[in-house]
Amino acid sequence: MAKVLAAVIPEPRAPVEVRELPEPELEQDSALLEVALSEVCGTDVHLQQGRLAGVPYPLIPGHVSVGTLSKIRGRMLDVEGRPFAEGDRVTFLDVHRTCNACWHCLVAKATTRCPHRKVYGITYGTADGLTGGWAQKLYLKPDTRCIGLGGVDFEKFMAGGCALPTALHAVERAEVELGDTVLVLGSGPVGLSVVIFALMRGALRVLCIGAPEQRLEAARGLGAAALNFETNDERARGQWVLEQTEGRGADVTIEATGSPAAVVQAMRYTRDAGRVCVVGQYTDHGEVSFNPHLELNKKHLSVRGCWGSDFSHFYRGVRIMADAARSEPWSHLKLDRYKLGEANEALADVAAGKVTKALIAPQHVC
Ligand SMILES: [Zn+2]
Ligand SMILES: [Zn+2]
Repeated sequence: MAKVLAAVIPEPRAPVEVRELPEPELEQDSALLEVALSEVCGTDVHLQQGRLAGVPYPLIPGHVSVGTLSKIRGRMLDVEGRPFAEGDRVTFLDVHRTCNACWHCLVAKATTRCPHRKVYGITYGTADGLTGGWAQKLYLKPDTRCIGLGGVDFEKFMAGGCALPTALHAVERAEVELGDTVLVLGSGPVGLSVVIFALMRGALRVLCIGAPEQRLEAARGLGAAALNFETNDERARGQWVLEQTEGRGADVTIEATGSPAAVVQAMRYTRDAGRVCVVGQYTDHGEVSFNPHLELNKKHLSVRGCWGSDFSHFYRGVRIMADAARSEPWSHLKLDRYKLGEANEALADVAAGKVTKALIAPQHVC
């Protein structure tokens, strides 16, 4: 049987190992993807650190990936009902098996909270097969939602990567309106894509508070005013926001940092009757306290969480990336590519904030 090389996290807090795994027998209506690029994001760092609950180690990380369909058994259809062919360039929604039959899906209409959903590279492990993108081949199980990339450049698409649907969802959920001043806390991949989408949705100005300097330079290049949070304390940051908003605060603040304290700062930096959207708390980093009278009730503030993304976010993200003019901002983001055997370096660089966007190119082993 043919063998496939994959980078595997054997257990929490253990280094990534390159292993040889068998190429799977394809079930009816499934496919094999030859992976060109997969992402390395904060979630992958947290997976390696054992910070996520319900993860079936060992697992192959890499939830958003692009590549070429190398083998199809039966039929794989796109959202228009058109069959995919071997050789097609695709990406796929990393969320699988949203049931569309449970209370969350049907009553709450919150499909991103469906308890039956599985995520490639996060809640599927090697026991489920080649289910992560840090591998030469990835197994697309039946009912995986693929999206054709046509001529979309793999690298440009992956400059958005998993941050693309997350940021699109957050900007939508924050209900950014024409002429708004939007404050983005965090300048990682999600924060930078939020800057782009907020402007696309009609924000007049975008302010970004983050670090390190190279990511802030990227934010400025995208059209945001940016401030380094490492060299400005909370008071100075608040003052900076007030100076640019007639002393009122941002109309909308989107938190994309991962730090619980930033959620309270998001509330403080937002104007009366403004909106706060929290999209940076994907792992449990503990509690934080705030004054509900001064910082929430009296401000008449709307605060919303934003969990995961669904097919609509992913699909629209791909469509935007297929538009040369609209996707242009992402081509300015710096990418760092790592070979399969360099996954530990990639994780360390992402954890240290050294790189703007890290990618694994699994066809290159070492
Ligand atoms: Zn990710
Ligand atoms: Zn469901």
